[in-house]
Amino acid sequence: MSKIRFEISDTDLTLLNPFRDFSEEVHTVKVRKDPLLGDISVYNPRLKDKVKFFFGDCDIGLLEKLIEDSAKNCIFCGDMIEKSTPRYPSNLVSEGRIKKGEAVLFPNLFPIGSYHSVIRLSDAHFLKLSEFRPGIIENGIMAAQTFINLVYNHDPSASFVAVNANYLFPAGATLVHPHLQMLITPIPYSYHERLIRANRSYYEKHSTEFYPDLIEEEKRKGERYVAQMGGWHWLTAFSPMGNNEVMAVHEEKSDLGLLSKSDLADLSKGISSVLAFYESLGHLSFNYSIFSVRRASSQKGFRCILKIISRQNLYPNYRNDDYFLQKLLQSELIINLPEDLAVELRGFFKHDIQGG
Ligand SMILES: [Zn+2]
Repeated sequence: MSKIRFEISDTDLTLLNPFRDFSEEVHTVKVRKDPLLGDISVYNPRLKDKVKFFFGDCDIGLLEKLIEDSAKNCIFCGDMIEKSTPRYPSNLVSEGRIKKGEAVLFPNLFPIGSYHSVIRLSDAHFLKLSEFRPGIIENGIMAAQTFINLVYNHDPSASFVAVNANYLFPAGATLVHPHLQMLITPIPYSYHERLIRANRSYYEKHSTEFYPDLIEEEKRKGERYVAQMGGWHWLTAFSPMGNNEVMAVHEEKSDLGLLSKSDLADLSKGISSVLAFYESLGHLSFNYSIFSVRRASSQKGFRCILKIISRQNLYPNYRNDDYFLQKLLQSELIINLPEDLAVELRGFFKHDIQGG
């Protein structure tokens, strides 16, 4: 029997539906548990009927106005990036900022961790999701990796890295201009710590590592496994922590600072493919995080992983997709089943794999 458990519990409930003359209606709610952390997500197939309440289409007029208004005073556009973004002291970053192609890394003016960088990704003020080409993402992640290694040389306690993306205000971004934010900290932040602890416990219990076991089991089942690109395995999450969650797991390494150039290129290609897929589903806003643990801190079983989710679209009376269920019960609602998502996503990865 597999050590990885994909638990689903069904709950039936009955209600009298006013739109069907108060006739009796039985709903089945399917509750899923994440195989590593036990985190809950719920699926009610009937919610598909209500999906327009959750995800209306983007209002193009509103979007254009947002892009135009925000471009007027954007500190990431043109010369403004030189004039208006902070620099690191030269004993940490000799030039003050790190540049790779169009990517520019600099400190966040309002840090929320020991090292909190912002990485401006593109010259363009706005990108459609299909315009996040792999090279744009790769330059950003390469700049992040350069900074990680400078920090490692400077500070032995800096062990936990999260490279994060918020795109557009439904995802929490204050600026439209495409960018990443990276935290490097001596203590892992909550979710990161839960992942580390759970990987350690799994290893202590089974004497094998969780992620290799997960990949093996997901490949065997074939329902959520999407593709392998270089050292990365791509799959949809059994119990997602956000809408349309896709994850990538590095087969061997935990430390983003030590990944090879081809590892970063393959990761960027995959992110670009997922974003193009989200665009095909009608989405524009997203978050992702890449979680990393410094090799020297030796956290058994941990792997460098990426989690990416789509967020609410932009329209005047849009409703935030984080409500009590997510924020306070820390559980998630499934709109598209992970297994259905994987079927469609495979088409977006086929091209990348065949094209190298
Ligand atoms: Zn801009």
